[in-house]
Amino acid sequence: MSAQNATLSVPEEVGLLYDRLTALDTEGTGGSLHLGFWDLDNTEVPLVEAADRLTDMMTERLRLEAGHKVLDVGCGLGQPAGRIARRTGAHVTGIAISRDQITRATELAEADGLAGQVEFQHGDAMNLPFPDASFDAVIAIESIFHMPDREQVLSEIQRVLKPGGRLTLTDFFARGPIPADKQEHVDRCLRDFIMTLADGDDYLPMLRRAGLRIAEFFDITEQSVRPTFQQMSQANDQLDPVFDEEADKKFSPADMVDVDEFGSVLLTAEKPR
Ligand code: SAH
Repeated sequence: MSAQNATLSVPEEVGLLYDRLTALDTEGTGGSLHLGFWDLDNTEVPLVEAADRLTDMMTERLRLEAGHKVLDVGCGLGQPAGRIARRTGAHVTGIAISRDQITRATELAEADGLAGQVEFQHGDAMNLPFPDASFDAVIAIESIFHMPDREQVLSEIQRVLKPGGRLTLTDFFARGPIPADKQEHVDRCLRDFIMTLADGDDYLPMLRRAGLRIAEFFDITEQSVRPTFQQMSQANDQLDPVFDEEADKKFSPADMVDVDEFGSVLLTAEKPR
């Protein structure tokens, strides 16, 4: 795939990847592009529902009130933004690096009657196109792992947050060294989706360096990554048109189900007053 095109920056590559994904029919996923959250004793709940549950858990952590201004960093097709706006009365601005996602998110919001309450614009989270202290809260659902410099993105988020404003994000991180026999599968997953794994040990110092105070570091790997890969491995055909390589080189969710070291964190932080 085009990740090998050396003339494009990582954000540009990621933008093209999501342009390709946008061309696919996403009805089956309910429009949200992230993993689910399940209670460990009830992993039969469909991914669409479990994905909304993760959005709702993150939204709760922002303590939003009607009229609050929220920034959604890496907003995808705008499904989470619309859900947050409807459920809280907040105004949500989404940005994404994929132009096709922005076009589609805008169309979908208009069709849902949310045009005045959510808005979407193309932009790179490494350089947020907003003034200092312009948002009450920031959400970033499974987007920061595509960005070349997490600390810069966190600094940018800190800059646009009002003092006392909250951030919630999910990110993939290494819970420990990847075993040699799993490395190839992890590398393929990271390469196909143009991602990196965060260093779990450096996350808290990195937040501090960016001027944010940690409120919660919730390792959701068991409730999120594993059941999602399990469900995806049963419905793998959906991704076929995106990855045009030979089948034996293609990312396969089944390979990832038992990689315990591939972790996901639900993180909440605050900009000090
Ligand atoms: N948060 C959405 C989409 C997750 S997919 C959801 O949960 O449904 C990852 C998103 O990150 C995509 O929308 C992609 O366009 C965006 N993204 C990746 N790199 C980015 C960057 N450098 N700047 C802005 N958005 C980026």
